[in-house]
Amino acid sequence: MNNIQHAIQTIQKQIRDDAIRYHREPSSVSLLAVSKKQPIEKIQEAICAGQVAFGENYLQEALGKIAALSNEQIEWHFIGPIQGNKTKKIAEYFAWAHTISDIKIAKRLNDQRPAHLPPLNICIQVNSSSEKTKSGIEPDNILSLAEYCTILPRLTLRGLMTIPAPKNTFDEQRAEFHKLRLIYDQLNQAGFKLDTLSMGMSNDREAAIAEGATFVRIGTAIFGERGK
Ligand SMILES: *Cc1c(COP(=O)(O)O)cnc(C)c1O
Repeated sequence: MNNIQHAIQTIQKQIRDDAIRYHREPSSVSLLAVSKKQPIEKIQEAICAGQVAFGENYLQEALGKIAALSNEQIEWHFIGPIQGNKTKKIAEYFAWAHTISDIKIAKRLNDQRPAHLPPLNICIQVNSSSEKTKSGIEPDNILSLAEYCTILPRLTLRGLMTIPAPKNTFDEQRAEFHKLRLIYDQLNQAGFKLDTLSMGMSNDREAAIAEGATFVRIGTAIFGERGK
């Protein structure tokens, strides 16, 4: 077994153990392998280990990988910032986009989603840490964006995503994810049918699972340090 296969098995076991520790169904947490700045060979090793969902941040880099791996059964997730000039390719080549934070981008993705593909799965990226430098929509503005996304026929609003400011302790990490969890619960109580919380990375995976993450986005712990 190679390093990447081993790392994936280790993380899958951690995810399972975390889920059980927090009284969750292990199958309710999925591993999204974040392959940005990693070579195609490493993605192939991860595929051999049974990994299906891969996350990419940089569109040009991602399109090259998608073309090179077009014979594989991969579910591609876009997890980087989305500018208007990127929406067409994202709509054409990805199954998911996790980083929707404004109406204009949602509308473009909807209009550009090819008719032969199922609706694009999306998450609204929330700025739960309320830091000026962080991307994502402010919590006060989520409801109107969520309502707007729900009426777009070529998008399926699946849930919420966040990248919290780095925190040192487990309790601080957990408090950040708890904020997103509360918003998620409020939206579902208001009648939305969300099933996805995209939160947790290599360093805060357990805290995210404790708060209900359904996708943990793991890069370094699978593939090692990224290239430049
Ligand atoms: C890079 C990245 C990750 C993975 O981070 P690691 O610390 O390498 O696990 C997850 N989510 C997003 C949005 C990223 O940009």
